[in-house]
Amino acid sequence: MYSEKINELFSQQLNDWELARINYRGLSKVRTKKLSFGLYEVYVQFNPARIISSSAKVDVRSIEERPCFLCSGNRPKEQTGIPIEDDMIILVNPFPIFRRHLTIPSELHTAQRILKNFSQMLFLSQAMHLYTVFYNGPQSGASAPDHMHFQAGNIGFMPIEMDFTEGRHARLISSESGLEIWKWEGYLRGIITLRGNNGEKLAGVFGKLFESLDRRQPERPEPMLNILSGYSSDEWTIHIFPRKQHRPRQYFLSGGDKLLVSPAAVDLGGVIITPREEDYEKITGEDVIDIFTQVCFSDTEIEEIVSEII
Ligand SMILES: [Zn+2]
Repeated sequence: MYSEKINELFSQQLNDWELARINYRGLSKVRTKKLSFGLYEVYVQFNPARIISSSAKVDVRSIEERPCFLCSGNRPKEQTGIPIEDDMIILVNPFPIFRRHLTIPSELHTAQRILKNFSQMLFLSQAMHLYTVFYNGPQSGASAPDHMHFQAGNIGFMPIEMDFTEGRHARLISSESGLEIWKWEGYLRGIITLRGNNGEKLAGVFGKLFESLDRRQPERPEPMLNILSGYSSDEWTIHIFPRKQHRPRQYFLSGGDKLLVSPAAVDLGGVIITPREEDYEKITGEDVIDIFTQVCFSDTEIEEIVSEII
């Protein structure tokens, strides 16, 4: 129901807002390479406009010292949006990864938290079914950890979508009316996938999963995670990536050893963003294995968590 309004928003913003126009035009020059891991692939996208997000300082002090770019009073004057629900607004993301890339902040300056906003994510996925809605936790890739927001990108872009449909890596663990729980194996990233048409059951099992992760990371504002959520054929598919680290070791190295890769939902969905050309050129399959192993849970750890929630 929002598809048409969103198309109109894009036409209007690309017409009236130079920064967005330049950066969406720039997407045609973005380079992509594929790294093959046998039965599946991971893409690498060289996207210089993403340097701001990938290298964002998200420590408490840096966040307190900067004006919040998601608060309505600080947004660029050209940026307009579509109000949705009581307190959210759909905006064009001026630093795109996707051909159609949206940011959906709350109109309130309130912390990035998923548990009480999970139902909101289900609602957005359903209302914007041509998009995958995604969430980056406050310590897992969100560049505004102090301001609640989702993002969304056009469906069919991230390899994980097709990999799930083809069913080679995800195994059904539990199934009841309106709710299925899947876990992934041999995919380099520990992932739990929920699928079904019963929003209450989905939220219920997400709550259990959240608790189980929270027990492992009690010192954090919330357990580290990223989420991708889509809606098609009357049901939701929600991929959850529990995290153990925000940025990999390579991010902090200097000179030729550095890889400026800061994984968040889209990277874990199979499109790794490299804002620097040198990293795009040199990153290998071995690096991807190493990076995913550092920042994600292993298959064994996922197994443990799944056994706690079913
Ligand atoms: Zn704000």
